[in-house]
Amino acid sequence: MIHRIPSSEAVGLKDDFNGPICYTPDGNPLVGPAPGLKNMWLAEGFSFGITAAGGTGHYLAQLMTQGEAEIDMASLDPRRYGPWMTTEYAARKNEECYEHVFILHHPDEEREACRPLRTSPAYDRQKARGAQFGQVNGWERPCARRPG
Ligand SMILES: Cc1cc2nc3c(=O)[nH]c(=O)nc-3n(C[C@H](O)[C@H](O)[C@H](O)COP(=O)(O)OP(=O)(O)OC[C@H]3O[C@@H](n4cnc5c(N)ncnc54)[C@H](O)[C@@H]3O)c2cc1C
Repeated sequence: MIHRIPSSEAVGLKDDFNGPICYTPDGNPLVGPAPGLKNMWLAEGFSFGITAAGGTGHYLAQLMTQGEAEIDMASLDPRRYGPWMTTEYAARKNEECYEHVFILHHPDEEREACRPLRTSPAYDRQKARGAQFGQVNGWERPCARRPG
């Protein structure tokens, strides 16, 4: 690090840590307003937070000062998770994310770990009739076609 960033030699680093990389269940960080708290903003849950740091700061500052960013930040909104998410769901989805880091992704792909978690009363009937499901906020919902 000192070789790559010579100024780090003089900043007085006292310690360093190695630990597990942070993942969220869908692999996206949590960037935006903290659920249920006023004037509290999150930028966390990054698996690649060094490379994402500059852009995150730029667009989060727009969100905080102007109410919206010039790009769509919905897929990063911390409010996409709630009390419905179980510890097991978080753990298994994170493992699934990690398995997918270095493989090819398809648009709108649906991943299978820890499903179904939330189902409507019609779920069993839909499934019996051959419905294919996608997942939104933990809910299984029938799709017109099998995505991915
Ligand atoms: C093994 C590993 C490999 C990685 N590889 C890459 C990679 O190749 N590319 C990439 O882009 N990213 C990589 N990452 C991810 C990247 O390191 C993180 O996403 C990034 O460092 C997160 O930055 P941050 O500022 O959000 O949090 P952190 O760097 O975790 O900073 C949070 C700081 O807050 C401090 N803190 C915590 N609680 C308190 C408190 N109560 N009061 C005061 N201070 C507090 C902590 O001590 C820490 O210094 C890797 C991570 C790991 C663990």
